[in-house]
Amino acid sequence: MSKKQQPKKQQLKKFFRHKKLENIQLIEGVERTLTNNRGYVFKMPKPKTPVILLLSGGLDSVSTWKILVKRFKLNVYPVVFQDPKEPRAGERRAVKDIARYFKKPFGKLYHEPQFFTVSFLANEYRRSFDQHLYKNPQAIASFLDERGYFNVDLPGLTGALALYAMQFRNSLFFKSNLKINTIFSSVVRSDGEAVAHQTFTASRAIMLMLNGVMGEKHLQFTSLAFEPELFETYLDTADLLELQKRTKPALPVEKTWSCLMDYQHQCGVCRSCLNRKAALKTAGITDTTYYRQPLSSKVNIFNQVKQWLKKVLQYDRRFE
Ligand SMILES: [Zn+2]
Repeated sequence: MSKKQQPKKQQLKKFFRHKKLENIQLIEGVERTLTNNRGYVFKMPKPKTPVILLLSGGLDSVSTWKILVKRFKLNVYPVVFQDPKEPRAGERRAVKDIARYFKKPFGKLYHEPQFFTVSFLANEYRRSFDQHLYKNPQAIASFLDERGYFNVDLPGLTGALALYAMQFRNSLFFKSNLKINTIFSSVVRSDGEAVAHQTFTASRAIMLMLNGVMGEKHLQFTSLAFEPELFETYLDTADLLELQKRTKPALPVEKTWSCLMDYQHQCGVCRSCLNRKAALKTAGITDTTYYRQPLSSKVNIFNQVKQWLKKVLQYDRRFE
C-alpha cells in the first residue's frame, strides 16, 4: 500500500463508522481479494486509454466526464441507459446539449454519448407498486431516507447498470476492436447515505461481481469520488464541481439536468434539485438554471411520493 493510501484507509474507517449502509468488512474483503487476484484494487488508466462512463446529464456525471478528459486525458466513451417506460426527456436533452458543448474542447478524446434502451423494472414489479405500495405505509416508509426524503430506489440499480455497461463494452469491441476494462459511475459520497446500491460498499462489490460474471480479472468499476489513488478525501458533488473548475471550458450549468420530475423545466424543489442548488453554492458556481419553482418551499413528502409514482407508473387518475 502506498504512503498516500495509508491515511486514507484510516480515514475510510472513521468516515464509515456512522454510515449505516456502508460495510467496512465487505470493502476490506473485496479489496483483499482483488489485491490477491490481480495485484491491485484500482489503477488509474494511462492517458488515452479508452474507458466507459455511465452518463446521466447531471452535475456529477458531467463533471466526471470533464475531469476524466481534461485532467486524466482519457478517451471517454459515455453511455446513457434509458428506460422507454420512463423517458426522462430532460436528461436526454441535457446529454445532447452538453455533448455538443464539449465536442470541440475535448478534441480527439471526445466520443459521442450512446443511448442504450434497457428496462429498469419488470412489469410485474411495476404492477406491485401500482397495486400495493400506495396503501402500505411501511413500504412507503422504507423509501424514506434519514432526512425524510423519498428516494427513488430501484433495487440494486447500479449493479444492473454495471451489467448493462458490459453490453456497451462488448459492442465497442465488436465495432472498433476496443478493449475496455474500466467503467466509471459518478456516485458521490452523499449518494450512499440514502441508497444502498450507490454506496462505496456497493461500488466495490460490483467490481468483484464483474470480475466473476465476466471471467476477466482486470475489470474495474468505480467512481472518482472513492479512489484513494486519486484524491485525498471522499468526494461529494461540490468537490467534483470544484475539481472540474480547474480546466476549461466552464461547465454549462444550465444545460445539466438533476430533477427527479419530468417537467419541461427542473422543479427546483425536489430532493435532487435542492442538492443541486446547495452543491453549486458550496462550489461557488453561479446557478444559471431556470427552475419551474424558483422559490424554495417546504416539500410535502406525500406529494413527492405521489409525483414519483405518477412518473414511474405513468400514473394518471388515482391521485388527481
Ligand atoms: Zn426537481
